[in-house]
Amino acid sequence: MKLGNQGTDRIDMQTLDAKDLPLLFQRRFGAEPLVFRAPGRVNLIGEHTDYNDGFVLPAALDLSTYAAIARRSDGVIRIHSVNLNSDFSFDLDQPQSRVGAWSDYICGVAVELEKSGYRLLGADIMVFSTLPMGSGLSASAALEVAVGYALLNVSGEEIDLLDLAKICQRAENNFVGMRCGIMDQFISCHGVEGAALLLDCRSLEHRTVRIDPSVRIVICNTMVHHQLASSEYTQRRRECEEAVALLSSSIEGVTALRDVGVEQLEEHAARLPATILKRARHVVTENARALAAVAALEARDFAEFGQLMNASHESLRNDYNVSCAELDLMAELARAVPGVYGARMTGGGFGGCVVALVEASAAAHFADAVGPAYEKATNLSPMIFTCFPGPGAGPAIF
Ligand code: ADP
Ligand code: MG
Repeated sequence: MKLGNQGTDRIDMQTLDAKDLPLLFQRRFGAEPLVFRAPGRVNLIGEHTDYNDGFVLPAALDLSTYAAIARRSDGVIRIHSVNLNSDFSFDLDQPQSRVGAWSDYICGVAVELEKSGYRLLGADIMVFSTLPMGSGLSASAALEVAVGYALLNVSGEEIDLLDLAKICQRAENNFVGMRCGIMDQFISCHGVEGAALLLDCRSLEHRTVRIDPSVRIVICNTMVHHQLASSEYTQRRRECEEAVALLSSSIEGVTALRDVGVEQLEEHAARLPATILKRARHVVTENARALAAVAALEARDFAEFGQLMNASHESLRNDYNVSCAELDLMAELARAVPGVYGARMTGGGFGGCVVALVEASAAAHFADAVGPAYEKATNLSPMIFTCFPGPGAGPAIF
């Protein structure tokens, strides 16, 4: 990191490292901070299933959001984002309502923590993230969890990671206005180094699924983020609810698409309008694929896992209609590289990232094979990197 003279700090974001955060904090707020970290995530399979009470297989990333924090003696929260070079403050007794900016995530977490009975103290906070924002790697959940963790810590409150995940989801649902499921906040809290988690989004039971050292998870950021993402997300949720309403009248015990089997859906297909049937078919088959994928990974059957990833992408594209030209192209280019088992869009869709499962020995050449071809076709310079699953939220260790 390079810093200019005091008061005129010019931060070179390219060389900025999370371990520079205490120094930056000291300069801005004049105190010694504690630093906490919460990771972003990549979902290997099980897309758009979390809000249908289904199964997901995310891994926490080494890319993370860091929150440096020091207590204040009043009830004020002052916060600065290094990434956005933006700051704001609010009184814990009078938090502002939604303004449609990054401050919503922070106010939302503070409000929901207090609603849940935690008593927060005022604090100065500085956040810095190594995650790209709005790329489907869940910089939003990482921000919520990092700040929530930091606030609880300096307020002397006990930290229950499951409670924190649920509170951060409520902050995003109620305060930001994004009806996301529990996956992102859950994995940011509960990530395990070197592993993905199979999570049952209904019971929240979860199981660690180790990533074999002979394979690599490679993430390809298309560098596009279409505006459609949040309105279409809400629309998909409504369509799933409609499918449940129609199916529950003829199949006993259906309260979510999680309760519907692949064959059962085919039997009752005539009850659903064409679009609703397609949406339901994606969710129902994706739940089955997620479970099959875990069995394949545990059996070291990477070819099968890759086929399931490819099928997931096709289903998201054709039935759920949440892919886009750039994601399709990236997935196609990735699959053509020798040593790639499979590739699919990951995250909500309409841009963001593709995830590929790659033979370890092929990972080093992967970016050279995919990057230039993608750039030539789109004029966009993609960000391609190997991800090593890291641990969930906690104190930052530098
Ligand atoms: P994703 O979660 O996939 O990255 P979202 O649109 O859900 O995409 O969340 C991105 C938003 O989260 C940003 O637009 C910004 O408002 C907020 N955000 C995430 N990280 C930071 C950060 N380090 N500083 C400020 N705001 C952030
Ligand atoms: Mg998000």
